[in-house]
Amino acid sequence: MGQLHIFFFPFLAHGHMLPTIDMAKLFSSRGVKATLITTPYHNPMFTKAIESTRNLGFDISVRLIKFPSIEVGLPEGIESSDQISSEDLRPKFLDGCNLLQEPLEQLLQEYRPHALVADMFFYWANDSAAKFGIPRLLFHGSSYFAMSATDSIKRHKPYQNLSSDSDIFVVPDLPHEIKLTRGQISVEEREGIETEMTKFWKLILDSESKCYGVVMNSFYELEPDYVNHYKNVMGKRSWHVGPLLLCKKEFGEDVSQRGKESAINTRECLKWLNSKNPNSIVYICFGSMSNFTVAQLHEIAIGLELSGQEFIWVVRKCADEEDKAKWFPKGFEDRIKGKGLIIIGWAPQLMILEHESVGAFVTHCGWNSTLEGVCAGVPMVTWPMFAEQFYNEKLVTDVLRTGVAVGSQQWGRVNKETLKREAISKAICRVLVGEEAAEMRSKAKELKEMAKRAVEEGGSSYSDLSALFEELGAYHDVGKQE
Ligand code: UDP
Repeated sequence: MGQLHIFFFPFLAHGHMLPTIDMAKLFSSRGVKATLITTPYHNPMFTKAIESTRNLGFDISVRLIKFPSIEVGLPEGIESSDQISSEDLRPKFLDGCNLLQEPLEQLLQEYRPHALVADMFFYWANDSAAKFGIPRLLFHGSSYFAMSATDSIKRHKPYQNLSSDSDIFVVPDLPHEIKLTRGQISVEEREGIETEMTKFWKLILDSESKCYGVVMNSFYELEPDYVNHYKNVMGKRSWHVGPLLLCKKEFGEDVSQRGKESAINTRECLKWLNSKNPNSIVYICFGSMSNFTVAQLHEIAIGLELSGQEFIWVVRKCADEEDKAKWFPKGFEDRIKGKGLIIIGWAPQLMILEHESVGAFVTHCGWNSTLEGVCAGVPMVTWPMFAEQFYNEKLVTDVLRTGVAVGSQQWGRVNKETLKREAISKAICRVLVGEEAAEMRSKAKELKEMAKRAVEEGGSSYSDLSALFEELGAYHDVGKQE
């Protein structure tokens, strides 16, 4: 009996690395030899993240390849998407990612794994895998719902005859009637402009259509219509193996340490949370890449005060101390003492969301955050900004009905419209207090339970992962796992 050996190669962004590390840990706990590939800058984070899994005796390790920062004209040490401070550096960063093909292939040559799980951004990974006669599995890090909506919009271009950004259209051929506005689609897409990024996206979609199959961080019960749509209507081969973050419990992992070092003393943070009533706090965080203008931060601060709710608000580091004077309302810090906690930098998001005092989550609808909200069983205020976030919003507000939209209408990496304090305050109150909030909370708790069951032995994700192992085993005639 042999052992399956799988390479995991995540894109260099936290929203992609964190679930891929979890996936490698999960696979290793089911008997696979898992090798994660990354660049030296990320090594401490990867090594720490797999420590508890290794200590349990599972076969998981990290191999490094050099990121060619200097070669592509980036400052040394820039090896992560969230370090890209201006849009003109992004193509250079992506050039650097493309240059990782050769060193990855050297590792494939050296270790000869049985399969390669590579991020969607590595569109060339099908070719790399083919050189060694192994299947390339693609990891999107997104939802079935978002993949289905993306496909429909690219295929039908339903925004084409609309003149204004506020014009509404229905996304064609989806299981539910999903409405979006023209402004919620990227400018390149709606204006039909060809850029380096749109060319890059074409390569990604082409690679998706030719890969061996797609592994998804989702579970069947969360979006059954869209799992079926993706597989049966779009004709994709795919396995749902999530929510991947739930494997942490099994490994007895410390969830306060995830991704980057927390900007707040986690014990202090827990103490603060422990002093609050169940379901009384709103947690606000917009992921690792979204940026807000000073005017928007100011409006959020006043909106929070206006809501009268207690909160934890995470503000990305780039809104630095100096700026704070501009976006903090006068006397804000004094007034919120004891009622609100502001974390500037990286927050221990999983630890906070899992705390019983957290009753609502204001999120940018990155897929990891959305799933983390689902697994925590909390209603959400959705505040999408770019990428597939507008689709994930619709899944939460229109399909699952466990959240309300704050009213974000414009696609942009930095917020283009300034949402007003009243809208922010109103949305927070709707998900935190009253009958409607209680109804959403009860649905959210049901989903939380479904998520847990999906990853347990015999659950939908557990079984789909078994099916994937069977198939990979048969491909190589390698012995059954477990
Ligand atoms: N995250 C965190 N602390 C922060 C910000 C983000 O732990 O202060 C984690 C969050 O829990 C999630 C990931 O970073 O797992 C962000 O991924 P997501 O897909 O939500 O958004 P992205 O950052 O890719 O836009």
